[in-house]
Amino acid sequence: MLSRDKFFIGGRWVAPSGSGSIDVHNAGTGEVMGRVPAGGAKDVAAAVAAARGAFTAWSQTEPAKRAELLEKISAGLKARSDELAKLIAQEVGMPLKMAGRIQAGLPIANFANYAKLLREFSFEQKVGNSLVVRDPVGVVGAITPWNYPLHQITLKVAPALAAGCTVVLKPSEVAPFNAFVLAEVIEAAGLPAGVFNLVTGLGTAAGEALVAHPDVDMISFTGSTRAGKRISELAAQSVKRVALELGGKSASVILDDADLAAAVKGTVNGCYLNSGQTCTALTRMLVSEAQYPEAARLAAEAAKGFTVGDPLAETTRLGPLTSQAQLERVRGYIKKGQQEGAELLAGGAESPEGVPAGGYYVRPTVFGKVKNSMSIAQEEIFGPVLSIIPYKDEEDAIRIANDSPYGLAGAVWSKDEARAQRVARRIRAGQVDVNGGAFNMNAPFGGFKQSGHGREAGVFGLEEFLEYKSLQLKG
Ligand code: NAD
Repeated sequence: MLSRDKFFIGGRWVAPSGSGSIDVHNAGTGEVMGRVPAGGAKDVAAAVAAARGAFTAWSQTEPAKRAELLEKISAGLKARSDELAKLIAQEVGMPLKMAGRIQAGLPIANFANYAKLLREFSFEQKVGNSLVVRDPVGVVGAITPWNYPLHQITLKVAPALAAGCTVVLKPSEVAPFNAFVLAEVIEAAGLPAGVFNLVTGLGTAAGEALVAHPDVDMISFTGSTRAGKRISELAAQSVKRVALELGGKSASVILDDADLAAAVKGTVNGCYLNSGQTCTALTRMLVSEAQYPEAARLAAEAAKGFTVGDPLAETTRLGPLTSQAQLERVRGYIKKGQQEGAELLAGGAESPEGVPAGGYYVRPTVFGKVKNSMSIAQEEIFGPVLSIIPYKDEEDAIRIANDSPYGLAGAVWSKDEARAQRVARRIRAGQVDVNGGAFNMNAPFGGFKQSGHGREAGVFGLEEFLEYKSLQLKG
């Protein structure tokens, strides 16, 4: 058992104020892999007081000093990357090799990248007779989800620390162990006491206490649109700055001149990454009516290539979902898709064969002839379920892509690069991949519409944690 029984507050490991705990399940087996304390308002208040106490001194450190510490954190995570990959493969269910590359790899790269960006960043600028300086926002409350747990934490903690903010982190209760490893790494790196604090607990208890706390200047949240709405309401009471990275229902628009095989393959991979538990998952595949039959055949064939199994096994391409709640939710949507009249081309709601008992496994599923008004096309399923939607012409494809309450991501495929870019510009989403363009850790990441507001990653993510201040100078 991996149980933890203390919070990291004010540079020390501190016993919780209460005795409640939360079970953490191994996604591959369903077994309890450990427990973490269920913090409440008292624990959060102690962490906020520590962060507030550390703020003035930390905000005045030289950027070069902060950059040095961020590099140490990156190195500390690197030294523990195998442990982190295995931990997250078990907490979340992502196949181990991929978890090593993405779940452990991205945080290492992002801490190092923020050290580099910080060394290059200019904290002041002359505008007429004003000197415009960038001040850290203050005490940041970071609330994060379970799907890319350490990556989502890093996209908040690294730029917040770089900016000169102090942080209270409330990680997901579903996959919290990786956050304890980060806290240990931060402790070993020698950050001043109180600059980074960790409290675990439920969203409705520790999470809401953090959002409501008057001494917290900003909440940076990644998670569901449902929780994002509640957080906005609560934060409004103290006029806090709020950054929201929420859900998505992203469209992959395959134009009629695209390399169909490559586009379908890219879309299916983009949909099934992390068993579909990716906020930018390409869950709606839009194809022309003429190409629909071939696209449907290719997608069903691609889905069958995703071997479902134990995340620690070499042969696994699709790990389990993360939790029992996720399993029920995704199976529910698969049944709903069938009831709504979509055509099941691959997968289905039954358990896959040959998988370890007790784990949260689901079949890679493809629905054809989906109408964009169906709930499987409108709602975020957060599982390996692809909906193929036929369109009439380019204008119709753009209309369908934008007919969503979400606007997080998208993709466009065409042999004509100029055409692909033209269509990509018309998609109302924060990030659109053109012909499978590679992930860029320095590009801004975030949503339009109900996918949230604010941007993470690169210099855009650093600016989230800064205020403008102008000094009107005489001469
Ligand atoms: P969730 O909203 O249930 O929980 C996210 C975090 O918020 C957890 O730490 C939880 O404890 C906390 N929380 C929940 N209710 C809260 C409340 N009322 N007050 C304060 N905190 C609260 O989401 P989840 O199930 O962990 O994650 C899945 C969701 O996250 C999906 O909708 C996914 O699209 C989204 N997501 C978005 C991005 C992005 O960058 N846009 C990235 C990853 C995940």
